[in-house]
Amino acid sequence: MSSESAVLVTGASTGIGAVYAERFAHRGHDLVLVARNHERLTALAERLRDETGVQVDILQADLTQDSDIAAVEQRLREDARIRILVNNAGTSIPGDFLHQSSDDITRLITLNVTSVARLAEAGEGAIVNIASVVGLGPEMGLTVYGATKAFVLFLSQGLDVELSAKGVYVQAVLPAATRTEIWQHSGKDVDTIPGVMEVDKLVDAALVGFDRRESVTIPPLHDETQWQTLNATRQAMLPGFAQSEPAARYLSRS
Ligand code: NAP
Repeated sequence: MSSESAVLVTGASTGIGAVYAERFAHRGHDLVLVARNHERLTALAERLRDETGVQVDILQADLTQDSDIAAVEQRLREDARIRILVNNAGTSIPGDFLHQSSDDITRLITLNVTSVARLAEAGEGAIVNIASVVGLGPEMGLTVYGATKAFVLFLSQGLDVELSAKGVYVQAVLPAATRTEIWQHSGKDVDTIPGVMEVDKLVDAALVGFDRRESVTIPPLHDETQWQTLNATRQAMLPGFAQSEPAARYLSRS
């Protein structure tokens, strides 16, 4: 058993989550890997045990299912070694809003929103939530997916406000297009998209933000002042909301 805290990574069977698992194993952390695909989790766990000697447990779970979310919550609450949660499992669905089925939308929201919030509530130490730049861009045309990721960003920022005094570190990571299998699920050909980041680069950059204890990490954003300006403008509005009267433009003339 490692002397480092253990890390629970959701969506660890492939993509961004698998690279997080690999990086934390090489930093000497024991792991709990969560996803649906048992075969892939087993192969990754065996490789990481061989390469690093850390302890790797597998928790097979479908995070669209209430009972499976509860099982992961229970593991987070009862396993005191787990001090870092990487809330990464997420997906996308094809099509535009009017052509998406209500079943697909419900499953997407359960995975990308409900499971993320419930697991964050059970987390302690450090909570890394994988959001997306799509959550900043309603113009990008991925409306429900983007809305789930806007939720993850807000949740992270709110938890940072609520939990930092208790010593809990919360990080939102906002990747842009990154080369993983998610593109197969979204029905888009990733090779037609400009500026796709390789997954190793994305996770290594996100971990630089983690080590700096950033609350929001946007690896593809080269001009950091753009985010700072947006955030400062948003915060500047807040005191002005305390008004008993509507703004002049909403006063009826009659
Ligand atoms: P990915 O390659 O498709 O991997 C998604 C992971 O989530 C897999 O391990 C998958 O494992 C797991 N997962 C999917 N449905 C699940 C379910 N119902 N229950 C439990 N686990 C489930 O996608 P990725 O790109 O690495 O995505 C990881 C995160 O990054 C997501 O939150 C995504 O929204 C976000 N993101 C990705 C990009 C991008 O361009 N790639 C950009 C911005 C944000 P199983 O299939 O084995 O369950």
